[in-house]
Amino acid sequence: MALSGRCACGRVHYTINDEPLFTQACHCTDCQRTTGSAFVVHLVVVEADFDIEGETRMTTVPSGSGAGCDLHFCTQCGAYIWCRYRYHKVPVIAVRGGTLDDTSAVSPQAHIFTRSKQPWFRLPDDVPMFEEACSREGVWPAVSVTRYNSLGQIDQHG
Ligand SMILES: [Zn+2]
Ligand SMILES: [Zn+2]
Repeated sequence: MALSGRCACGRVHYTINDEPLFTQACHCTDCQRTTGSAFVVHLVVVEADFDIEGETRMTTVPSGSGAGCDLHFCTQCGAYIWCRYRYHKVPVIAVRGGTLDDTSAVSPQAHIFTRSKQPWFRLPDDVPMFEEACSREGVWPAVSVTRYNSLGQIDQHG
């Protein structure tokens, strides 16, 4: 399965060439602020599976873990495409589900940081939810946990 997506002005586009490891809706206040919305849908993707074309810029913002998060966005329209949470010691990234060409191609497998979800948003009762972050073991599909654990460590910068 290959997923594809783009920014709002169309100068940046990408493909995801293998199955995302996991898809989650994050209701944390950092994601609310960076998206200007109630929550974000994040596809956790192996970086090697992600091909992106077009000019992006990066900025680093604080994240709940304290390690920081590198945001990548279109230089022209500012659409926020993907990010790297520095607490991951392996090369995985989070792609913003709202930038997919077909935004209905994925749906969250968990809702996380529900402690700060908007009170008017009613969580579905058939999807796991977590007050804060969720662990991979027992929540992610077993095949995704195996793939994640088989990735080589990356050099942490900063
Ligand atoms: Zn753009
Ligand atoms: Zn978040």
